[in-house]
Amino acid sequence: MPTDPLARILDSMENAARAAGRPLPRLVAVGKTRNADEIAALAAAWAALRPGSTLAFGENYVQEAAPKVVALEGRGIEWHLIGHLQSNKAAQAAALFDWVQSVDRPKLVSALASARAPGRSPLNVLIQVNVDGEAGKHGCTPDKVPALAEAIAARPALKLRGLMAIPEPHPDPGVRRAAFVAMRALHEALQAAHPTADTLSMGMSADFELAIAEGATMVRIGTALFGPRPAA
Ligand SMILES: *Cc1c(COP(=O)(O)O)cnc(C)c1O
Repeated sequence: MPTDPLARILDSMENAARAAGRPLPRLVAVGKTRNADEIAALAAAWAALRPGSTLAFGENYVQEAAPKVVALEGRGIEWHLIGHLQSNKAAQAAALFDWVQSVDRPKLVSALASARAPGRSPLNVLIQVNVDGEAGKHGCTPDKVPALAEAIAARPALKLRGLMAIPEPHPDPGVRRAAFVAMRALHEALQAAHPTADTLSMGMSADFELAIAEGATMVRIGTALFGPRPAA
């Protein structure tokens, strides 16, 4: 087994996909508090392991991402916003990111669409779903997905790419699996209406193999890649 964390994760992803008879999902590397130098080192490791393909990197906060996106311009990194987005940060998010995975209300759809510069490729958008109905969690309820999808599909500045979820890290693997299965059913229904919605983003360090087995096409991994978050 490779000792480099990135190589090890890519191996585990391949094994999980093969075992489930599914296509290999995309990896979004998640930085949390990582700085531009650490991301640059990861981009170099990525280029060595996956020459010619693009590293996707996930950030939780618009302000934290801004200086890193600027510092790493030209490195070919694809930037994903994976954290909650406040409406008053939507314009900045539309300028900085290639993907926003946390769209969960109509107000964000119009704010992102009107802010995306007309000359740029459409902003890739995932609808975040609160699949297990956890109180106080971001994401729309599953019944809101069709209307939100219509709103996104109606805006040429946006491209509807699918769904994202952060299921509760429940101790019972059966409960975790059920959340992933529910997301896959939602995603299949969405894709039937919107063929551009090719992405199901679910699974993190603790559960990405289970998520892949249940149909994730994109996993978001931080801790397993960088080690535990440094104490603040
Ligand atoms: C932090 C975070 C991840 C990665 O979590 P790990 O458990 O560190 O792999 C994935 N998605 C979102 C939305 C996150 O905030």
